[in-house]
Amino acid sequence: MVEFSFPSGPLQELHDPHWRARGIRLWIKRDDLTAPSPGDPFCGNKYRKLKYNLAAARAAGQRRLLTFGGPWSNHIAAVAAAGRRYGFDTTGVIRGEPVRNPTLDRAAADGMQLHFVDRATYRRKHEPEQLRQWEQQFGPALVLPEGGTNAAALRGCAELMQEITAEMEAPPDYAAVACGTGGTAAGLILGASPQTKVIGFSVLKGEWMAGEIAGLLPDGAAAPWSVDYRAHCGGYAKRPPELVAYMKDFHQRHGLRLDGVYTGKMMRRLEEKIATGCFPAGSRIVAIHTGGLQAEV
Ligand SMILES: *Cc1c(COP(=O)(O)O)cnc(C)c1O
Repeated sequence: MVEFSFPSGPLQELHDPHWRARGIRLWIKRDDLTAPSPGDPFCGNKYRKLKYNLAAARAAGQRRLLTFGGPWSNHIAAVAAAGRRYGFDTTGVIRGEPVRNPTLDRAAADGMQLHFVDRATYRRKHEPEQLRQWEQQFGPALVLPEGGTNAAALRGCAELMQEITAEMEAPPDYAAVACGTGGTAAGLILGASPQTKVIGFSVLKGEWMAGEIAGLLPDGAAAPWSVDYRAHCGGYAKRPPELVAYMKDFHQRHGLRLDGVYTGKMMRRLEEKIATGCFPAGSRIVAIHTGGLQAEV
């Protein structure tokens, strides 16, 4: 396991007179800084989710990782970077027409073989028949699901929550995290103390994230949790001017950059919840900076 580990980013308290007036203390876990080197896409929650999968691939003697994503997927870029670092060949099956963008350029530069498929084929990506065909085409591989969400990924995210709890005097009352597939949130719930409520902020439109998370959790996860559906700013990867302005303002106030797809939306909605009295006085909240900055140009 040592092979796939490096030091994690600090837990930092942020200060704001409005939060103080409501009796709220807020920390941010700088998991964006959990990376082998600055700017590496193998960072934050993508590192947490891949760590035990890489160990499993190594233990099974696999030479190749095969995975899936949209053309802007942070997971795709992370798998490519991890593959290069640890000597795995990587194949990325990408949804849609062949395109290039900074995310895919980076993946290709890290040696990933990119294979574009139409949406109908992409929808069949987890079917055994389709997977067999790709393994014939590209060679035997450890297959990672879209977004990297599986049991091994949850384990890495549970570890993150345990680490945060150990870093504080007492378990936080709330842990806030952005949700794409919900895998990170599910792992945090598994690793949280029963005193901590995990709040997932869905960055997608539609109210189905709680069902996704529930489906990932084994029966009897101890910590309470909920999903907030008002963070999405119009839908996945939508970046309205008010979000851009918020991120700029947050940077000015706290000297910290957020990404526009996940952490910017989470923090914006979290601050709104604080301002509207959703948290009782005395609440101690940890927001998790899951990374994603390598995609901000
Ligand atoms: C992928 C990603 C998420 C979402 O993680 P899920 O486990 O899919 O919910 C959150 N934040 C960042 C920065 C990401 O790259």
